[in-house]
Amino acid sequence: MTFNKTLDAIKTYEAGKPIELVVREFGIAPEDVVKLASNENPFGCSPAVQEAVAAILPKMALYPDDSMYALKGALAERFGVGSREIIIGAGSDQVIEFAIHAKAGSRSKILMNSVTFAMYEIYARHVGASVVRTASREHDFDEFYALYLEHRPSIIFICTPNNPTGDAVDAEALTAFLEKIDADTLVVVDGAYMEYTRYKDSAKAVEPSELIGRFPNVLYLGTFSKAYGLGGMRVGYGIAAEPIIEALYKLRPPFNITTLSLEAAAVALGDEAFVQRSIEHNFDQMKRYEAFAQEYGLETIDSYTNFITLCFEPPRSSTDVAEGLLRRGVIVRDLSGYGLNAIRVTIGKPEENDRFFALAAELLD
Ligand SMILES: *Cc1c(COP(=O)(O)O)cnc(C)c1O
Repeated sequence: MTFNKTLDAIKTYEAGKPIELVVREFGIAPEDVVKLASNENPFGCSPAVQEAVAAILPKMALYPDDSMYALKGALAERFGVGSREIIIGAGSDQVIEFAIHAKAGSRSKILMNSVTFAMYEIYARHVGASVVRTASREHDFDEFYALYLEHRPSIIFICTPNNPTGDAVDAEALTAFLEKIDADTLVVVDGAYMEYTRYKDSAKAVEPSELIGRFPNVLYLGTFSKAYGLGGMRVGYGIAAEPIIEALYKLRPPFNITTLSLEAAAVALGDEAFVQRSIEHNFDQMKRYEAFAQEYGLETIDSYTNFITLCFEPPRSSTDVAEGLLRRGVIVRDLSGYGLNAIRVTIGKPEENDRFFALAAELLD
């Protein structure tokens, strides 16, 4: 059978390896597998969420509230924006998909960082758009601006903090850049890890209300999959001026968020103390990774997220290190597919990090 030609250019997204795969392939007991590969919250989610979800299980026969009144209201209050400036997606991934389908086509260009979240390119290929990338590993607004002038892209993606590298731009530098972009170019600011960044350095914290109030062409993205510990629930959101949200709404399938997920996200948003504890723990444990890297002479990238990137020098290869860890039951992300000789490690619980340090030391010695 033949399919749309656009599919030929698409490489299927490779998600972090699930624990079950390591159990099957290497015969390691499930309780001995440590997954530090998908930037999930190692402490799970707020206990209040589990209770609330259990309590609404009897409502499963009914379609969800498609207006998403409660969750949108909670997000609107949190961010100081209007409910009509919010769209909820099955993960912020789905909002990225809507944005690209709404704005780009086969003659469009989409501008993004050299190394960044893989889904931008995959959705770009869905619509046959071409991808333009900067050269630097970290976001460089001079480069972005020069490429913007040269290519006149339909969409610009700014991922801050960036996945898979962890670095973040200064909020002021971002707004200075946005001032120079014409109102018909959609700029997507992906803040999937912004809760961590806000805690570590307020100068790099991007507040959606400030962007949306000022720029009619900016779409801010957030997610419940990372700091809120709800990756399995698939809830993310986009915040933008109403005309953008209205356009994205035309692409949204009805009932795209389940009743359980809507409830989980709204309740998670109400337990800020849980999130703050997770974040404090994250940066405490990250110091151990920085010390480990220093001890073994590995370069790290200053991280504003819940993961850290460890870079290697040839002849040592990140693929071998990731593979060696995997065989011993620790799953990390090899970044060779992104053109980096590096691994990305999600900060885990203390005992999970202990396992990583012990095995990585064995491999690197
Ligand atoms: C994890 C992630 C997302 C989306 O996650 P969802 O689970 O789809 O909400 C978006 N952008 C970046 C940069 C991410 O790391």
